[in-house]
Amino acid sequence: MPKIIPLTELRDLRTPHVPGVSVPAGVPDVTPTGMLADARGRMLRDLRISVTDRCNFRCVYCMPKDVFGHDYPFLPQGELLSFEEIARLARLFKAHGVEKIRLTGGEPLLRRNLERLIAMLSDIGGLDLTLTTNGSALPAKARALRDAGLERVTVSLDALDDGVFRAMNDVDFPVSKVLDGIDAAAAAGLSPIKINMVVKRGVNEQEILPMARHFKGSGHILRFIEYMDVGHSNGWRMDDVVPSSEVIRMISREMPLVASDANYTGEVAQRWKYADGSGEIGVISSVTQAFCGDCTRARVATDGKLYTCLFATTGYDLRALLRNGSSDSAIGNYLAAIWLQRADRYSEIRSENTVAIPKIEMSYIGG
Ligand code: SAM
Ligand code: SF4
Ligand code: SF4
Repeated sequence: MPKIIPLTELRDLRTPHVPGVSVPAGVPDVTPTGMLADARGRMLRDLRISVTDRCNFRCVYCMPKDVFGHDYPFLPQGELLSFEEIARLARLFKAHGVEKIRLTGGEPLLRRNLERLIAMLSDIGGLDLTLTTNGSALPAKARALRDAGLERVTVSLDALDDGVFRAMNDVDFPVSKVLDGIDAAAAAGLSPIKINMVVKRGVNEQEILPMARHFKGSGHILRFIEYMDVGHSNGWRMDDVVPSSEVIRMISREMPLVASDANYTGEVAQRWKYADGSGEIGVISSVTQAFCGDCTRARVATDGKLYTCLFATTGYDLRALLRNGSSDSAIGNYLAAIWLQRADRYSEIRSENTVAIPKIEMSYIGG
């Protein structure tokens, strides 16, 4: 078992100090031009915002019950960014080039009145707005989310077999309700819907073909995600990873696939189309084929810390700036200073040694 470092402790240890009244000394003025490149020439284009660190599931690879139990110290309400604070950040990030915002978590649909935040982000204009969810609340919320301005959703679903799915979410949640959620999202016009399936060796690899058969021809885009060593609690081992190449070979034997071009630079999934024209699938090969070279993503965690990599150990406290009266230009300069010096490429340098580095849990940093 890996050593578990309590998350609250890690947050405190790894957050650079932000002085009480202004941005850290030495941050230069950067006029927002929307063309901010990091130290490896990667532009800032995507922002993922975690709106809650809580979840109603306990997926074994993300929030295992033995770590995220009844006494787990989730963030108190006052530590979460308010909708107004999130919208303000969204405007500042947009000025520096962000085109797409994905709301995530934890389970984002657990955040009360989320549609109010969607409406505020939609009002900013010019942002591609989407959300990743476990789908459990979509039957009740899909219509309101769409009406508020949400454009698309990604729904996570790891198996069609009810027993396998219940075991993976570890709260006995039935697969039929997630399928209802997907239907509700489609009926509300939140499409094309992407379906994310994390594949873990020996746990749900037998579900790859049933999932592919089920979604082929549905108009939804099924994406297979390699199980990653995010966080510090899921006990990741390389042996648990099913390489995307294996997934593609397996599906292609029964339903021939043809490689397809990316929709845009920095797209995380590699696209494959069914040769018979009945749709496409994607594979996200973050372990076997790292895509750091094109990574244009920043993440704002539930409590307003900015991370420039999913595997970062250092977060920058934007909430302190939002709450200490800092001006838009001061916060914008701080964002720019952080992005300009970004050099992250964790997936390219992943090894048995890096797995042991303390990392931030995905439910908090935003998957
Ligand atoms: N609760 C929402 C959900 O499950 O869609 C949003 C947050 S979840 C952290 C975002 C995505 O991260 C999900 O698609 C989930 O399957 C994926 N994920 C979580 N832990 C992972 C891991 N260890 N490796 C790969 N993907 C993971
Ligand atoms: Fe919750 Fe999503 Fe993590 Fe599953 S993957 S435990 S649904 S946050
Ligand atoms: Fe981006 Fe970090 Fe993932 Fe590489 S490891 S693709 S830099 S988030």
